[in-house]
Amino acid sequence: MNNKFSLRQFRRKYGTHEQCLEAIKRICYPDEMNCDKCKKLSIFYPIKGRTAYTCKYCGYQIYPLAGTIFEKSTTPLDLWFFAMYLMVQTRSGISAKQLERMLGVTYKTAWRMFRQIRILMAEMGDDMLTEIVEIDETFVGGKGKNRAHKWIQGVEEKQKEVLMGIVERNGKAYIRHIPTTGKWALIEQIQKYVSPKARVITDEFLGYASIYKYGYKHDSVNHRSQQYVLGDIHTQTIESFWSGLKRGIYGVYRVVSKKYLQAYADEYAWRYNNRKACGGMFNILLKQVVNVRAIQPSLIK
Ligand SMILES: [Zn+2]
Repeated sequence: MNNKFSLRQFRRKYGTHEQCLEAIKRICYPDEMNCDKCKKLSIFYPIKGRTAYTCKYCGYQIYPLAGTIFEKSTTPLDLWFFAMYLMVQTRSGISAKQLERMLGVTYKTAWRMFRQIRILMAEMGDDMLTEIVEIDETFVGGKGKNRAHKWIQGVEEKQKEVLMGIVERNGKAYIRHIPTTGKWALIEQIQKYVSPKARVITDEFLGYASIYKYGYKHDSVNHRSQQYVLGDIHTQTIESFWSGLKRGIYGVYRVVSKKYLQAYADEYAWRYNNRKACGGMFNILLKQVVNVRAIQPSLIK
């Protein structure tokens, strides 16, 4: 699948800062274009030692990195690209600590790169799911066995953070960090991401009991009576998503603070949602570098 893009191929294509800059320039601009200044159909050449390109006729300069997550960074682009490669090649992600070791940069730099690349992986679309959609919540952090306590609105749940998963079978996943498992919190997300044309499948949790009132066709599977599959009524897609996500959280990161839980969920969902991307996940992420440019200032603190 994605492994087709081997490290050897990657190094050949994006092994130097200049190659990476050229790749971004090619996404932003055609090979030939009309110069803004002299108005001629021109070719822009790289200026050695800088991140600018210059018009072959008048010397007008363009800056492909302007506004991107790379603009103010002193880290060479080939290291950025390698970090992006690592983040898409792994199933559960890598930690800033691993990035630090593999890139040979400081922890602080690795952490910063990691956060910036995650911005590229944040959920941007809000197209509604319309087919068979499985919905479930899970708890992250805290103590105790999650599912066992799901039915008890007890004190222990307060220690845990709630992730809500909305996954279309053979389609896209939305994962949201929500404040509680209360009915209103759930319905708010469902209305945002699920079209009333969809057929919704959940477990028998009461929070979902009234979603038919909002126009959804709804089936639920009764886990308490050991019923896990009834025809196509099951929540196995979202459950296997949760087990992968938790392997990532507990295996790679050990702990994900409340503050970064949504970013991790986005990163994980991003890989899931782009798993079949033609051209490979890396190219999708690379295009995001340019796409995110317009909205970037509001996202980066
Ligand atoms: Zn010009």
